Amino acid sequence: MKTTAFAVVTIEGTVESADASSVTIPTADGEITVLPEHTPLVSVLKPGVLTVRTGDKEKHVAVSGGFVQVAADSVTILADTAERADDIDVRRAEAARKRAEEAMDKQHEREDLADAAAELQKHLARLRAAELVKHRRTPDRSRQP
Ligand code: ATP
Repeated sequence: MKTTAFAVVTIEGTVESADASSVTIPTADGEITVLPEHTPLVSVLKPGVLTVRTGDKEKHVAVSGGFVQVAADSVTILADTAERADDIDVRRAEAARKRAEEAMDKQHEREDLADAAAELQKHLARLRAAELVKHRRTPDRSRQP
């Protein structure tokens, strides 16, 4: 099976890396799914959840802003912040989400509002990523034969 060398890097170091069979990435142009031998591209990373697949396993990483570089045999994410779904402190993200919502309510200038909205999206992405792992840990038994 063909794979692509995937890595999420922040100033703190490499948060996740894998020989991936596909990667789904939130970009400014919408969500993209990159397969091995994808056409090279550079794009802007949006706050959201990255999904990396290796064989039949999936991992999720919450990211804020940054850049995406897709080369012939690699996908590199340069993120302002990134957390593996397993490492997310849900209470902290929930408290930060509340603060971000309150801050948004107080903004009236368009630029300030956009910044506050991006901040809120970052915390929502953390909560979403954590929720995805929670679902993986509790299999839906109703689907079993
Ligand atoms: P908070 O107000 O909760 O501190 P923040 O927006 O100030 O959030 P960031 O500046 O986005 O935090 O991140 C600072 C560092 O903390 C980064 O390394 C980031 O990955 C980590 N981090 C932030 N929130 C969480 C979380 N809920 N769980 C795990 N790591 C987190």
